Amino acid sequence: MHELSLAESIRAIVEETAQAQGCSRVRTVVLEIGELSSVEVEALRFCLDTVLRDTSAAGAAIEIEAVPGVGWCPACERSVPLAQRYDPCPHCGGYQLRPTGGLEMRVREIEIE
Ligand SMILES: [Zn+2]
Repeated sequence: MHELSLAESIRAIVEETAQAQGCSRVRTVVLEIGELSSVEVEALRFCLDTVLRDTSAAGAAIEIEAVPGVGWCPACERSVPLAQRYDPCPHCGGYQLRPTGGLEMRVREIEIE
């Protein structure tokens, strides 16, 4: 399952950070999730609940910030907002958009005590 492996890699990053800073408790984890990353936010939250249970991040607040999708239109030669993969260009209506932004998920911030 996609979200479970994502949650596992988030746990690794969180634990590494907590250990490096010698902290016992993680208060907040801030994640950035691109609109085009096809990550199911609710499923990810559920998986994080499970994988973080026995770590210093148990019970930590998970804040998720959406990163808007961006596509490049070769016809218009400009970047345009792209809410979903395979949407047409809002300017010329063409379907040549190449997604360039909002594709990935990353841990942006870890707040510790
Ligand atoms: Zn266009």
